[in-house]
Parts: sequence; C-alpha cells; structure tokens
Amino acid sequence: MSQRVVVVGNGMAGSRLAAELHARGEDLKVTVLGAEPHRAYNRIMLSNLLAGKIGEPDVELAEVAGRGVDLRTGVTVSTIDRASGQVLTDDGDRIPYDHLVLATGSRAVVPPLPGLDPLRLPERVIPFRTLDDCRRILALAGHARRALVLGGGLLGLEAARGLAARGLDVGVVHRVPYLMERQLDPAAGAMLAGTLTGLGVTTHLAVAPTGVEADASGVRLALSDGRSLDADLLLLACGVRPDTALAAAAGLAVERGVLVDDRLRTSDRQISAIGDCAQHQGTLTGLVAPAWAQARVVAQVLTGQDPLARYQPRPVVTRLKAAGIDLAAMGDPTGGPGEELTFADPARGTYAWLRIHDERLAAAILLGDNPSVGTVIQLFDRGHPVPGDRRALLLGRAVGGAVAAPAASPALMPDATTVCQCNTVSKGALVHCWRGGARTLDAVVAQTRAGTGCGSCRDAVAGIVDWLSRADPVEVGR
Ligand SMILES: Cc1cc2nc3c(=O)[nH]c(=O)nc-3n(C[C@H](O)[C@H](O)[C@H](O)COP(=O)(O)OP(=O)(O)OC[C@H]3O[C@@H](n4cnc5c(N)ncnc54)[C@H](O)[C@@H]3O)c2cc1C
Repeated sequence: MSQRVVVVGNGMAGSRLAAELHARGEDLKVTVLGAEPHRAYNRIMLSNLLAGKIGEPDVELAEVAGRGVDLRTGVTVSTIDRASGQVLTDDGDRIPYDHLVLATGSRAVVPPLPGLDPLRLPERVIPFRTLDDCRRILALAGHARRALVLGGGLLGLEAARGLAARGLDVGVVHRVPYLMERQLDPAAGAMLAGTLTGLGVTTHLAVAPTGVEADASGVRLALSDGRSLDADLLLLACGVRPDTALAAAAGLAVERGVLVDDRLRTSDRQISAIGDCAQHQGTLTGLVAPAWAQARVVAQVLTGQDPLARYQPRPVVTRLKAAGIDLAAMGDPTGGPGEELTFADPARGTYAWLRIHDERLAAAILLGDNPSVGTVIQLFDRGHPVPGDRRALLLGRAVGGAVAAPAASPALMPDATTVCQCNTVSKGALVHCWRGGARTLDAVVAQTRAGTGCGSCRDAVAGIVDWLSRADPVEVGR
C-alpha cells in the first residue's frame, strides 16, 4: 500500500510541499487539509493586491489537486491523535497518516488593547494576513478617506504605501523611535520616514497605542502621548505568531515554534513541520524562501529521492515591496564586530550602510537609488570577499579599479549568482534549463519557478532568457 502523507495547511509551505511531492511522481497518497476556503494563493503578493498593482487571479498558485493530491479546502484539523496515527477535522472526519506534515503558518498578532477582543474584532479593525483580510480592507478602503496602520515594520509599511497609492490619507503608528527596527538602523529608518511622507504616509513614532474605540462609522486610536487619531479603518500589522496550538495539544516539543531537526522532523519522527510554524536551530523564519526550501527537503525525504536531505538555512535578504521605495536590508543592523561604512544623501533619500567583518559583508542597508544593490546582495548571499576598495560597494560604480556595479550583461554574471532568492534559483540553473530545451520565458519559469515568489527578480529572469535567446550558441553551450 502506498504511504499516506497528510499535510495540515494549504498555505505557501503546504501547497509547495504538495507540488514537490506531486512533481516527484512517487507512489504516495497525499491529502492536504486547508482551513482557508480558497485554493492556494501567494500570500506575499497580498501587498501588491492591496496596492492595486495586481488582481486576485494573479495571486493564485498552481493547483495540484486531482493529480494524485486530495486537496480539501475549508477544513480545519482540530486534533492529532498520535496513538492511532490519525488527524480529526472540524467536519468530523478522521484521516489516517503514515507521515504527517504541519504547515500551519502564523497568525497575525492582535495587541492586547482595551477595545480589541481578538475573537471579535470590530468591523473596521482588520489584521493583514489572509486573502479574506485583504478583501475586507479593500472593501472598506473603497469608501474610506483616512486609514491608520498599527505597526511600522515591513508588512505595515507595505500596507500603508498600498493604501496611500489608492488615495487614502494614511498614518502609521509605531512604538519604536524609528521604522523597521529589525532591519534598519535609526538613520535609515528616519530617511525611510521622509520618503514615506513624500508618498502620502505620515508616521507617528515612539508612541504606543493605549486603546481603540470603533463603531460602524469609524475608529479612534488613543495614544500614549495623550493624542487620539481618527480614521475610517485601522489595519493591524503588529507581527505574527507561529500557529503551534495543534502541535502543542498533541504533545510535540514546542517553544516559540514547533521544534524541528535538520530533516524538519518534530519530536515525533512520524510528524514534520515546515514554514512559519517551525523552529529550526532556535530560529523562526517567517519568510517564504526558507518555507519553500523546507518543503523541498521534506519531499526529498518522503519520496526516498534523498532520504538524508537536510535543510540548511541561507542568509536572508529583506526587500520592501512598495512603489517608490527601493529598500534592501540584510544581516543584523544592531551590532556585531567589523568595520562600518555609511553613505547618506538625505536630499535624494539615498542611504547605504555596510558592515564588513573578516572581508565579508555581515550586514547591509540600501535605501533609495543604490546601483550596487545587486552586487551587495550577491556578496552577502554567497559570502564572497568584498572588493579592496569599499567605496565601490557604497557608491555602486568602479572606483580605483574595483568594479562593484552589477554585471551589465547576463554574460558577465557568474553562474552561481542567485537570481531568484525566494526559490533559490541561480543564473546557472536558468542556463541549464534553457540548454535542456525550455526556450521561452514561460517555459523557463515553469521549470525553475524563478520569479514566482515576491516577483522582484522577474525583470532579471526575463533579461537572462532574452540574452540566452540572442547569445552565441557556443557561449551558452547550445
Ligand atoms: C502581506 C504579506 C506580505 C509578505 N511578504 C513577504 C515577502 O515579501 N517575502 C517573504 O519571504 N515573506 C513574506 N511574507 C511572509 C510569508 O507570506 C510567509 O512566510 C509564508 O506565507 C509562510 O508560509 P506557511 O505556509 O508557513 O504559512 P501560511 O502561508 O500562513 O499558511 C498556513 C496555512 O495553514 C492553515 N492552517 C493553520 N492551522 C490549520 C489547521 N489546524 N487545519 C488546517 N489548516 C490550517 C492556515 O489557514 C493557512 O492557510 C508576507 C506575508 C504577508 C501576510
């Protein structure tokens, strides 16, 4: 009898695992149980949906249901019965498993404030996590003039920029004295606030919310400095918390997330955990690239393709998906050994900061027009030595013979360059795919998945495919 694999969660990690298992074509009986009523969608792209850059059909992910995968949407797993090897669903079903994979993701944090009951949020107070949240925000935004966003992290700023692009007067309230403190330093945060002001977003910093009053006509947010702000809607972007309740109730080892080893196995060898809900080497990821890398490892192990496959965390690069703001941040900006270099041009909203340790890039922040961004990301990602003349990295042009500008042509780009960070696809993998017969952009994307995550590399992927289609056959080994 074929092995029965049950996946709990049809989000970014669970749906990718189903696709990976299906692609490997092994004799597995895969059941995916997803609490959300929709087919799988690209959660990352909700920011672009909110901003009106794309429509709902653009966020849908490829469907694997019916192709050896039994996908059940709108079904919540309520209990894991480890003794009998079954999961129980809210519609009364019992589904047996030989191997269970938890991909339950995260939930938006609702701050403990007077006037906010997490179980019954007022109509005009909405978190930003799911497609349904996004639909509700858009429905309200259509008739709104003013919006408030609680939380000046990545998600809050993407939402704020998106609502401002729809013509709303947007205010961001953030407890910390500067924006995106997990990725930025105070100088970059201040410059980002200036850029946002120019785009119609007001920031209220170093101030905590103390209460919410909301009714059918509007929302009032009280602040610790005695002010209160009125709006037509309040969007909550106060962070996420891994959804570990199911695992904890089943007696699995749980800290902030479900504890997993390098093969993504939990404290029960029959159960794995991947994505936002998993805690690997003390770290929660909260990003799609690790979730997809973990899905691949579990698929390799379960199909027997590579029973010893291990998940190896890669350096994380954060990019803000907001029109009019170019921001890339990597590494820990708050401290660590090494030399620091800074270039700031406040009038143009440009800021570059690098920390170099042991001739390697340990952390970087690039805000505004920074021609060296591609090179900096590659150096950080691959851990290669930085050029002797560091000004080239800060200023993004050749200085004294050190060339730091991104490769002008794909031909000059090393094969090992990671083009798609979300799916970890290198230039070499794109060339390999082309050599294998994929001769259009769609075919290359379908085979490698490059560009299907946050989408920020789509132009680069298209450029490489275009170069391949025109390149000397010898050069690309055709
Ligand atoms: C607006 C937005 C923008 C983002 N932008 C980026 C970005 O630019 N780059 C990046 O890397 N990351 C980004 N992220 C984070 C990224 O979306 C997550 O890291 C990713 O979705 C994690 O995938 P996951 O499958 O672990 O969790 P999720 O995608 O949250 O999926 C979990 C699924 O499990 C379901 N579930 C939970 N419990 C049960 C149960 N008991 N039974 C059945 N189903 C259950 C949930 O309903 C959900 O559908 C963004 C997130 C948001 C909200």
